[in-house]
Amino acid sequence: MVVGVHRPTRLVIDRAALRHNIHAEVERLDKNCELFMVVKANGYGHGAIQVAQAAKDAGATGFCVAILDEALELRAAGFNDPILILGVTSPADAPLMAAEDISATVAATDWLADAQAYLALEKDLTAPLHVHLALDTGMGRIGFRTVPELTTAIEYVDAHQESLDFEGIFTHFSTADSPDEHYFKQQVAKWHELTDHLPRRPRYVHVSNSATSLWHAECNDNMVRFGVSGYGLNPSGTAIKPPYALQPAMSLTSELVFTKQIAAGDSVGYGATYTAQQAEWVGTVPIGYADGYERRLQGFHVLVDGHACEIIGRVCMDQIMVRLPHDYSRGTTVTLVGQDHGAEITLQDVATYCETIHYEIACGFTSRLPRRYL
Ligand code: PLP
Repeated sequence: MVVGVHRPTRLVIDRAALRHNIHAEVERLDKNCELFMVVKANGYGHGAIQVAQAAKDAGATGFCVAILDEALELRAAGFNDPILILGVTSPADAPLMAAEDISATVAATDWLADAQAYLALEKDLTAPLHVHLALDTGMGRIGFRTVPELTTAIEYVDAHQESLDFEGIFTHFSTADSPDEHYFKQQVAKWHELTDHLPRRPRYVHVSNSATSLWHAECNDNMVRFGVSGYGLNPSGTAIKPPYALQPAMSLTSELVFTKQIAAGDSVGYGATYTAQQAEWVGTVPIGYADGYERRLQGFHVLVDGHACEIIGRVCMDQIMVRLPHDYSRGTTVTLVGQDHGAEITLQDVATYCETIHYEIACGFTSRLPRRYL
């Protein structure tokens, strides 16, 4: 998809806000605990490379991604820091990951055996593949679930030390962002059941996403996988207050490209779902669902000169129409996410309206939107 640089619609990413959030967390961590910034999905839509640099500047010592291509993007950009791929990769890519010093998540011993077979074919391998064993303590997604399964995996790695290195062990909590701690505690108990008698501790032992590190820091071991809160977003939505002020790093702005006055009885947009009851001013803004500005946002609002202006009619692929309090000149700024004259629309507001979470809204903005970095 082309980037729309000739259109006035853009995501604005505030790197000082990224640094503020990440540094605030680094400062709270125990001295022996490292922060790996989670920059998967193009840094939650903020731009993986720019976020990685800001995170490093703020004290992050490594990165987490979801897929191998995201790790390779960081290496190609010159980042030599540790990178952990959180998802399951193809064993056939084990030699590439080893060569690039990228750590793999492992969820099954047969994966190790397959990867080992590929690694054994490499005559020029200079370093082993670093593996982090994933434990399923209740997330129900990937990982070892019993002590015997885990023991077999560790024994397998230790028997193949020329090509495999037991670098880490981790789990992921599914309800750390909830005020109800019942299931969280169950997962913590399962984690202890699986790891209390490990034959040996690897370099990294980690359980914490943002929510765990913010609200259950006592669980952090020697690394946290810090994601959404680095971007200034509260993992709980609005349910739990964060221990320090998070600064949202992403805003979304555009301009009025056309205004007109319509009369009572005139309709707006596909399906003619909106009909004016009286004479009113309408502005057109060049953004739509092809940019990730969801069709469900009909009836939501944008900010023009600090006024909340309702989105009237259906959200089109590339344009929306908003009701204005009066006429404005072409080129007037429209804020879709962010602050304007003391008023604010947060990603959480957009997510609440769309009945989803802010993670999905941030990741959903497409590459047609240029990212401008402050
Ligand atoms: N760890 C794992 C395994 C994840 O899948 C994720 C994100 O989905 C994170 C850490 C980061 O989570 P958050 O963005 O809530 O901090």
